Amino acid sequence: MCLATREEVRPGMTDTGIDRDALRRRYAEERDKRLRADGNAQYVRLADRFAEAARDPYLPMAEREPVRDDVTFAFIGGGFAGLTVGARLAEAGVRDVRIIDKAGDFGGTWYWNRYPGAMCDTASMVYMPLLEETGHRPTEKYAHGPEILAHCRRIGEQYGLYGNALFHTEVTSLEWDEVRARWVIGTDRGDRFTARFVGMGTGPLHVAKLPGVPGIADFAGHWFHTSRWDYAYTGGDPSGAPLDGLADRRVAVIGTGATAVQCVPELAKHCGELYVFQRTPSSVDVRGNRPLDAGWFAGIATPGWQQRWLDNFTENWEGVLLDPARTAQPDDLVQDGWTDLARRLRALLAALPPEERTGARILRAFEDADNAKMTAIRARVDAVVRDPETAARLKPWYRQLCKRPCFHDAYLQAFNRPNTHLVDTDGKGVERITETGVVAAGREYPVDCIVYASGFEFGTDYTERAGYDPAGRDGLRLSAYWADGMRTLYGLFARGFPNLFLVQLGQGANLVSNVPTNYAEAAKTVAATVRHVLDRGLAAFEPDQAAQDAWIDLLVARGRPFGSPDCTPGYYNNEGQAPGPRQRFNVGYPDGAGAFFVMMERWRAAGTFDGLTFTGG
Ligand SMILES: Cc1cc2nc3c(=O)[nH]c(=O)nc-3n(C[C@H](O)[C@H](O)[C@H](O)COP(=O)(O)OP(=O)(O)OC[C@H]3O[C@@H](n4cnc5c(N)ncnc54)[C@H](O)[C@@H]3O)c2cc1C
Repeated sequence: MCLATREEVRPGMTDTGIDRDALRRRYAEERDKRLRADGNAQYVRLADRFAEAARDPYLPMAEREPVRDDVTFAFIGGGFAGLTVGARLAEAGVRDVRIIDKAGDFGGTWYWNRYPGAMCDTASMVYMPLLEETGHRPTEKYAHGPEILAHCRRIGEQYGLYGNALFHTEVTSLEWDEVRARWVIGTDRGDRFTARFVGMGTGPLHVAKLPGVPGIADFAGHWFHTSRWDYAYTGGDPSGAPLDGLADRRVAVIGTGATAVQCVPELAKHCGELYVFQRTPSSVDVRGNRPLDAGWFAGIATPGWQQRWLDNFTENWEGVLLDPARTAQPDDLVQDGWTDLARRLRALLAALPPEERTGARILRAFEDADNAKMTAIRARVDAVVRDPETAARLKPWYRQLCKRPCFHDAYLQAFNRPNTHLVDTDGKGVERITETGVVAAGREYPVDCIVYASGFEFGTDYTERAGYDPAGRDGLRLSAYWADGMRTLYGLFARGFPNLFLVQLGQGANLVSNVPTNYAEAAKTVAATVRHVLDRGLAAFEPDQAAQDAWIDLLVARGRPFGSPDCTPGYYNNEGQAPGPRQRFNVGYPDGAGAFFVMMERWRAAGTFDGLTFTGG
């Protein structure tokens, strides 16, 4: 990157010599190449005709009798959402919590995603919940999948969540029984039991998808989705044992998003030939993973440490985005790619004289910070990848938060191996699959195995992804209630759906950079509300109409939608489709996640549960 002096800066140029206008043009061209009319409909589910490939490859299903009892709390989903809520309920003295999951164990994302090289992208110290409570010290700055999965099991054990859990069980119906003030839960295992309260934590990224390209069902070789990794075929295991089954195989990876960035380096080490099919390159920054030192950890792990880290992460990540006047640098305990991004923004804003901190200048400062970062990320590709043509094709041409930012120290390097071939499709994607291989840019690549690193549904309807459609008071379906857009109070409660908690990101903190932070806070609210109902012998609660309406009005008036239509298409921006009227509701608290958490802390502490109506007792 060449540096220009202040005198040399032209209007369209930043003072680091980056041509702002040229970049804008290039970004728009690259986005336009990738826009397509079918949006989310371009994908097909790993289900129905692909049901066999969706089966759990990790644990066999045990036979059991259908369950027909009553529990205090049922939670649908055994990932971090279910585990944190289960833990806080156990602490609050609610012992009969039943977690139900399609998976064979706890873990959610980390149960299913056991592909080689899987690890978290936000720092373990904030990503792994309940570290302080369990006394676990993450072994690495970014823990690998097996450690995160083991931690999920540790939480399940410590809080006694295994005894009541139902695994390999899919919830297929959920209906409110007004007379008994109970939820009636039906499953694909013939269960029909009741619960006073239900939590839904079915996950933001749990429905695996495949590219809906012609011929996808015709391939006669072996194939699987990365969330159903077939170690019986590839050899090896999730802890890094060599994938020796691939030594003489030709393998295609379709997709170059966050999953591919993690598994391609492992595949490259072991495959005979590896073909990586790319539609849009990921931005891949330095990861700098390292072991966490036990002595250092002992020093910082004083009482309350994880909450301090979570608060510090939130403050660093969003402070400057919400209040550009706050240019002072807070300490950055976490120091990952996300806080680095915020730090750079702050530095740029701090350099602006206060009288120049107008809306337009601030937006330009954001753009300049982004341009500098993405220029450095592209320069890193040139520095790492030896073949200039491959390097050129691996460069991302969009702003850093247009797609999930990736961090890795072996992905780009993998393309220097003679067995690893990038098949760039210039934004078009794979054309079709044949019986024997993959066709891209008019050429067929014969392969023995296809690994679909094609990700998960995100922009589809919540109830479609959950796999059941809750029926609340008077049989009102959640899908019908939300037909014109999501409606909740605090993202957690919905009018007409008594004793139901929606443990997810939207209409609350909406903190996408570190998902578990949202759950750490929601779990406290769930436990406090349940305790209130039980302690007073009440039957049910739900949000007041007026409180919910006021919340929605606030969000719609001032909330900022996530993802920009100016970005290259992806799951962050609804595949580039213009936001429809329903998207207006997909926002978080306008004053930010930190302010939302403080507000909810006060709400819990007040003990009056303003905005909720309680009945019975
Ligand atoms: C590979 C990968 C890496 C990630 N890394 C990060 C990261 O570094 N930082 C970050 O913030 N986020 C990351 N994420 C996002 C991740 O999904 C969240 O961090 C978090 O794990 C979500 O927890 P959850 O409990 O909401 O959902 P999940 O972990 O997805 O759990 C939901 C569970 O619900 C079950 N379920 C769904 N429907 C039903 C039903 N009808 N009946 C029964 N069970 C059902 C599913 O089987 C699943 O096990 C990553 C995601 C992936 C896929």
